[in-house]
Amino acid sequence: MNRNVIITCALTGAGDTVGKSEHVPVTPEQIAESGIAAARAGATVVHVHVRDPETGAGSREVAFYREAVERIRDSGVDVIVNTTAGMGGDLVLDPQDPTRFVEGTDLVGGLERLRHVEELLPDICTLDCGSLNFGEGSLLYVSTPDMLREGAKRIQELGVRVEMEIFDTGHLWFARRLVEEGLIDAPPLFQLCMDIPYGAPADPALLQAMVNQLPEGAVWASFALGRMQMPWVAQSVLLGGHVRVGLEDNLYLSKGVKATNAQLVERARTIIESMGASVATPDDARELLRLKPRS
Ligand SMILES: [Zn+2]
Repeated sequence: MNRNVIITCALTGAGDTVGKSEHVPVTPEQIAESGIAAARAGATVVHVHVRDPETGAGSREVAFYREAVERIRDSGVDVIVNTTAGMGGDLVLDPQDPTRFVEGTDLVGGLERLRHVEELLPDICTLDCGSLNFGEGSLLYVSTPDMLREGAKRIQELGVRVEMEIFDTGHLWFARRLVEEGLIDAPPLFQLCMDIPYGAPADPALLQAMVNQLPEGAVWASFALGRMQMPWVAQSVLLGGHVRVGLEDNLYLSKGVKATNAQLVERARTIIESMGASVATPDDARELLRLKPRS
């Protein structure tokens, strides 16, 4: 069992959740404050998306990332910053005429998805390792091998650590290719994202099968959504992995009780410590992941 567990707190995501909980942070300042509180509660890493303060919708605007990340860095609270690089892959098709892209489409190339990474040089950024039918309807998340190889190469050049997001078993197959091709520095870092329709369901046997497919020396975490978030903390620790909680994936502390990010981190910490493990400090994680020292 993994004895020193990294807690990543996914602060806000890009989902349609702003109207569902008053705790979902929207402005860069709110996102930073929520991240700082999560770090104080024990989060080792904060995973940052940004939103348009006017509409609450997910955004790729570099200025919003800059403000959120600088506020976290300037706070004096020690935490590793992981920014998403998954935005810009949304393709919404007209089901009657699928050559037409309709409202909701935000599709740009692999390098364009990295503009904020180029500028802000976070400790870690994500790379969504394949395409996916995303939810119901006609939304596709598009991330092709060409885009992924181009993105991975650029992230490597920037000296930023990649967290490979795996939504299904084929994504893991491709991610292993990236590692074999030398596009990912050691140790390769994986996030096994379960329960996202329609990728891999949150099934313990499936998680075990995916863990068995990881390359030598991999460091991995896993999460699941909603009510499965906390059971999945225990599940991941049992299999030797790290964990992720936060409002990107789950809004509730218990039935009917809306959570803050800090409360979700506290709950994860309690589970980890009750299992006889401990929570990794940012310095522990820097050493494990061979991150550059804090500038
Ligand atoms: Zn995310």
